[in-house]
Amino acid sequence: SERTLAIVKPDGVWSNHAEEIKKIVLASGFSILQEKTVQLDEESAASFYSEHSKKKFFRSLVQYMISGPVLVMVLEKENAIADWRMLIGPTDSNKAKITHPRSIRTMCGTDAEKNCVHGSDSDQSAQREISFFFSSETPG
Ligand code: ATP
Repeated sequence: SERTLAIVKPDGVWSNHAEEIKKIVLASGFSILQEKTVQLDEESAASFYSEHSKKKFFRSLVQYMISGPVLVMVLEKENAIADWRMLIGPTDSNKAKITHPRSIRTMCGTDAEKNCVHGSDSDQSAQREISFFFSSETPG
């Protein structure tokens, strides 16, 4: 089976959606292998999203990601990467509300930035992101 990294972003945590999201995760057949709540600092948020460093929204994205604690989870199931991204819906929560009305971003996201959850987009990203948060010397 496959592993992916899921994040409940600060807006999802402070709007109290974390427990509801975990219930959906488990009901959808994922195992939560590891989880922790962390407060990112500017440097770590910028590093996590370094692929977007040239985008116009980068500074705002980093500020958003450090605006409060995030819940980070390693999810496992067959086809975990694609299935988790399907479950969260498209990046823009406003589009999700139209095209994926039952998605997690419809439930707790606000717009293209404040979309309340993250999911790795490939096997390579998943491996990088899992080790970013859960390195072997700091079991989570
Ligand atoms: P994630 O990587 O968080 O799962 P994603 O793969 O759906 O999201 P990306 O294109 O990788 O989306 O963008 C990373 C994050 O940057 C988005 O989740 C969102 O918070 C923010 N973002 C993306 N596009 C925009 C935009 N046009 N305006 C503002 N913020 C954006």
